[in-house]
Amino acid sequence: MLSAYSYSSLDSYRNCPRKFSFRYIERVPTVKTVTADTYLGNAVHRVLQKMYTLGADGILFPKEDMLKLYHGEWAKIDHKLFKVISEFYTIDDYIRIGEEMLIRHHERHAPFDQGTLLGAEMHISFHLLGTPFKFRCYIDRLWRRDDGVVEICDYKTGQNLAQPSDPRFRYQMGLYQLAVQSQYPQYEQIDLAQYFLRKDEIVRTRLEPGDLEQLAEEYRLAVAETIEATRLESFPAKEGPLCNYCDFQEICPAKRHRAMLDGETDVGEPENLSPEGLKRLAEAYIAAHYEAAVSKKKLDGLKADLLDAARQTGLSRLDGETGYVGVKLGRERKFVTKTEDAAKFAELTSEARQMGLDDYFNLDGRAVMKDLFSKGRLPEDQAKRLEPFVVEKETSRVSVKLTIEENEKEK
Ligand code: SF4
Repeated sequence: MLSAYSYSSLDSYRNCPRKFSFRYIERVPTVKTVTADTYLGNAVHRVLQKMYTLGADGILFPKEDMLKLYHGEWAKIDHKLFKVISEFYTIDDYIRIGEEMLIRHHERHAPFDQGTLLGAEMHISFHLLGTPFKFRCYIDRLWRRDDGVVEICDYKTGQNLAQPSDPRFRYQMGLYQLAVQSQYPQYEQIDLAQYFLRKDEIVRTRLEPGDLEQLAEEYRLAVAETIEATRLESFPAKEGPLCNYCDFQEICPAKRHRAMLDGETDVGEPENLSPEGLKRLAEAYIAAHYEAAVSKKKLDGLKADLLDAARQTGLSRLDGETGYVGVKLGRERKFVTKTEDAAKFAELTSEARQMGLDDYFNLDGRAVMKDLFSKGRLPEDQAKRLEPFVVEKETSRVSVKLTIEENEKEK
């Protein structure tokens, strides 16, 4: 169990359990890559903190000073050390984008005193209600607006505008609300707002107490999942667009082989485990997998032909040169499944719940049919209610026997 969880740590587990383990469990030391877009976000956050802190004391942060502070942030690091993810952008583009965001924000919101500032870049630690799990949150700005509502603000410098219905919005901002409520239970009306500085848009929402309870339960389950993964030492790598920002690419099990083949990692393993040996193994598996897929398609086609022939001729055994194929055709009654008819299946589960049979259905719908329904063991009214969900289907089984084997068995 971690000493404290956060939105970022659990989001990291969700995006890639391996990265979560490297960073939070194994605590692998790494040279942190600074990407230009991440640095842009940090620089803008620092300037906004100053802007609102001064605004709270009735001091307008002049635009020129704001820009001086912003450019000063960029001057702290040698630009050659930044990693630029997009091939079309230069460091100067990132600097300009941040500058434009701040100027727009300044023009629209100066003098930054439209509410009472309760905290800027706040750090809150709290225990998730009813659990021993400690959480940590960093809140960009907490203030009481002039209409009396407390607003938790988060600044976003990325390109994509979120919606309140976006699960990530609820997941992040809802946790911040749990944090604020744990420290300040007197705040009853709380709005959640994300400021999308590139778009000059504010997305706001308010969560109901029921939503927050549900969210707290989701966080509890997410922590439990990481604890179980730690117990099993099971942290699979999950590749995705965020790999570009990952500091553990060199040791990542999903990236190392490619790096070995590109000659970036030197390994002295036995031949079969050498980079080329592993490449051959991968190629052999890919080829066999492809052949198996083709064979399966061929086999499925032949099976359909066999069943058709058996239906038309009434035969249940087709003899070949080296053996024979047995074809068993029959009929069965079964309850409708989700894949066959999702709407009807939803009706069935609702009926089953009302009859107190949902546990059985969750366990095994076939068992309800075989042991209760077919054998007339259900009360008559229940059987009648379930009847509309029964479908009758053909059953078929095709088996192959080699005659040689059969003869040998008989000896
Ligand atoms: S490089 Fe990608 S797959 Fe590997 S640990 Fe990092 S995020 Fe996960």
